[in-house]
Amino acid sequence: MTDEELLRKTADIALDYLAQLKDRPVAGTVDFSMLLANLGGPLSESGADPSQVLNRLVAGVAPGLVATPGPRYFGFVTGGALPISVAAEWLASVWDQNAFSYVLSPAAAAIEEVVRLWVTELLGLSAEMSMGIVTGGTMANFTALAAARHALLQRVGWNVEAQGLFGAPEITVLTSDESHITIFAALQMLGLGRERVIRIPTDAQGRMRADALQSALEQIQTPILVCAQAGNVNTGAFDPIAEILPLVRHRQGWLHVDGAFGMWVAASERYRDLVQQAEQADSITVDCHKWLNVPYDSGLVLVRDRAAHQAAMTLQAAYYVPSPDTVRENHNWVPESSRRARGFAIYAALSALGKTGVAAIVERCCDLAKRMATHLAANPQVQILNEVVINQVLVRFVPIAGGDADEFTAAVIRQVQKDGTCWAGGTMWQGKHAMRISVSNWSTQEADIDRSAAAILSCLNAVEEV
Ligand SMILES: *Cc1c(COP(=O)(O)O)cnc(C)c1O
Repeated sequence: MTDEELLRKTADIALDYLAQLKDRPVAGTVDFSMLLANLGGPLSESGADPSQVLNRLVAGVAPGLVATPGPRYFGFVTGGALPISVAAEWLASVWDQNAFSYVLSPAAAAIEEVVRLWVTELLGLSAEMSMGIVTGGTMANFTALAAARHALLQRVGWNVEAQGLFGAPEITVLTSDESHITIFAALQMLGLGRERVIRIPTDAQGRMRADALQSALEQIQTPILVCAQAGNVNTGAFDPIAEILPLVRHRQGWLHVDGAFGMWVAASERYRDLVQQAEQADSITVDCHKWLNVPYDSGLVLVRDRAAHQAAMTLQAAYYVPSPDTVRENHNWVPESSRRARGFAIYAALSALGKTGVAAIVERCCDLAKRMATHLAANPQVQILNEVVINQVLVRFVPIAGGDADEFTAAVIRQVQKDGTCWAGGTMWQGKHAMRISVSNWSTQEADIDRSAAAILSCLNAVEEV
């Protein structure tokens, strides 16, 4: 098989996969040891023919593939991948550009600059914000908080990149009690300590309470870093940024907003008010592989203080001469050096959708989430635990005869996952076990919701009868 035949065959395999994505079970029971047996064995001494490699790979992974890009995957907060973004991602692999620096790929630098301008415009942010394209929300949070750490310590005369944290003046980190786990992961990697934080209580929907933040701040003398959130991964709720912002400003603190999926509502006139004043935040996290529906791995970090952002990510080497300021150096804004050109897929998605296209995905997903909640709530054994403000629905199932609703809910979730019509995971919400449904995929239609709701309710009945 020639190289050309190999790549054409691969395209056919990809198209076959996409063609059956809508109809295949979303997930099934998998046997990990069987996957290992099919894929593994001793590493070949002399290699194998590429077409055999391809066949074995495709057959070997098949039982372990989850239809996350399909229309009825509602787990975590997971987008699919728009075909145009897959096309651009294919080319990114073929072009094999190293997005590290301008000399390695002027194309990747130009694309990232265009993405920066488009995203800031789309989300109503300042066009002056610096932007890095990282692997996802986790690294976006990491990078943003590194920039915050730099800025806050620099103001008190400490260069943290050069001197480290030993002996540094203290800063206080305040998070929401509901901050995403990756905020704490970022803090632990940055030497700020995941437990050395003040967690601000939230309301019933998981929104940070501004009054509680205000009282907490009264007790603090040090510089402050406040981590707020636009889009709670359980309820979809938004912290009241407009109330939090003046409190942080008053203290010359740094406000970070983790808007991994929620920030996309800024593209929609209907939902924009939920992120009022988020554009004033010092740093913002946005994931493209969630609601923008591009392939993994694709997250954005946006920072108002460009100098702090760059200082936190700086690289210094004798052999490396940076390009003049008239061009973009991608590595200035991310922790990595060599990396794939993640900008192509984002560029393609934004070009294809335009502003109204992004808004339409957001609005459709929110409408579909409400539709799902309405279908399910019609059953007296179902409780919807959250206000369905955007695309997230928390569902609890109650046994008819009374008894443990936590266990019952877990059993229904297991049944839904086994059934394979759709996929939704479990979560704990304010001490209660719940099924979490996130509608984030560009291809989900009303019929998918109707079919999935029916499947969930029949799983409920099946569990009830056992
Ligand atoms: C998904 C998510 C993250 C983590 O993003 P990854 O892309 O998985 O690294 C962080 N914060 C929020 C609010 C999220 O929804």
